[in-house]
Amino acid sequence: MSNKKLGLNTICTHVGEIKDEQFKGAISPIYLSTSYEFDDVDVKRYPRYFNTPNQEFLAKKITALEHTEAALIFGSGMAAISHMFLAFLQKGDHLVVQNTLYGGTSNFIREEFHKYGIEYTFTNGYEVSDFEAAIKPNTKLIHIETPSNPLLTITDIKGVANLAKSKGIVTTIDNTFASPVNQNPIDFGIDIVMHSATKYLGGHSDILAGTVASSKEHIERIWNVSKNLGGSLSDMTVWMLERSMKTLALRVKAQNKNARKLAKFLDQHEDVSKVYYPGLKSHPQHQLAKSQMHDFGAMMSFELLESIDAMTFMKQLNLIKPSMSLAGVESTMLLPSQTSHALLTQEQRDAVGISNQLIRFSVGIETFRDLKADIAQAINNTKTTSFA
Ligand code: PLP
Repeated sequence: MSNKKLGLNTICTHVGEIKDEQFKGAISPIYLSTSYEFDDVDVKRYPRYFNTPNQEFLAKKITALEHTEAALIFGSGMAAISHMFLAFLQKGDHLVVQNTLYGGTSNFIREEFHKYGIEYTFTNGYEVSDFEAAIKPNTKLIHIETPSNPLLTITDIKGVANLAKSKGIVTTIDNTFASPVNQNPIDFGIDIVMHSATKYLGGHSDILAGTVASSKEHIERIWNVSKNLGGSLSDMTVWMLERSMKTLALRVKAQNKNARKLAKFLDQHEDVSKVYYPGLKSHPQHQLAKSQMHDFGAMMSFELLESIDAMTFMKQLNLIKPSMSLAGVESTMLLPSQTSHALLTQEQRDAVGISNQLIRFSVGIETFRDLKADIAQAINNTKTTSFA
């Protein structure tokens, strides 16, 4: 049966399993060899070449989930992003990149590109016209992130893909916030889709990894650079990622459901001034999100009233962890101004709308009523502390 016909949970559970021919165990064995026979073999295997049995087979699961032909697994999301960019950009080329996106991606571009002689333009907004306005004759790549970190803006995937195609420009997307369960950008014409697999694909806050998926041709081009830069993932962690991904769809769907209910609760709360969640009808791009996402995901951001100190609120939480990173089965919150976007100047943060009151919320799989109660008590305690 072709992978295309398999259901999401079947792909998560079974595609990319390695059959244990020797002992007939139910799960994939781990191959930790860094040395493989070179004579009379189809593939010369070496971990930095991304072609050990575990690497090769997990790539099949990523490929099936993202509707592509091939995939590579990296040591981190940033390794995936940097290798992908460096494969398509060289001296004199120009990148168009969305202005609201993960702080690490923005830092990589601002701090490293000048060393390679690569030009770039951050768009003024996330409308297709903003991308069009930023294109130059030497633009070779357009990179988008939707929903974006941390303001959950939605970019028109098909619109940007069509614009790029009409000008012969390659498109890349950071699909981390959505996960392949909620969004398949390849179906809307994007060329290359990457993930920080540290997030939903790993899902348990215990793996650092990244993935890139695309056509065989694009993946070969990225591979040619990546084998030189050396950012592959160790087979032990590849195996952990495969194990984690068996429950990807189950986890993400439970997280989506909690997030929908929590976004409504926060939206109606008198001490919350703003909620950023594409599943809310009040989100300016709700209809666009509906047209390109299977569900709205489990990431949101919100702002408390100015009178309620965001840092004090975080300290009052009992169940929800004030933690960096996101997308684990446990709910976490953070202040982007102090963490993911701390390296941007206040001016840069103001320009993209990241206030010091903004709280990013990664919704986990806990029971909804417990999460709701934790937020309610933390707001009440912050108010009592502030006004005492
Ligand atoms: N993309 C997004 C949207 C992220 O949130 C992150 C990390 O937080 C990354 C990429 C980078 O991933 P990693 O930390 O695995 O390198």
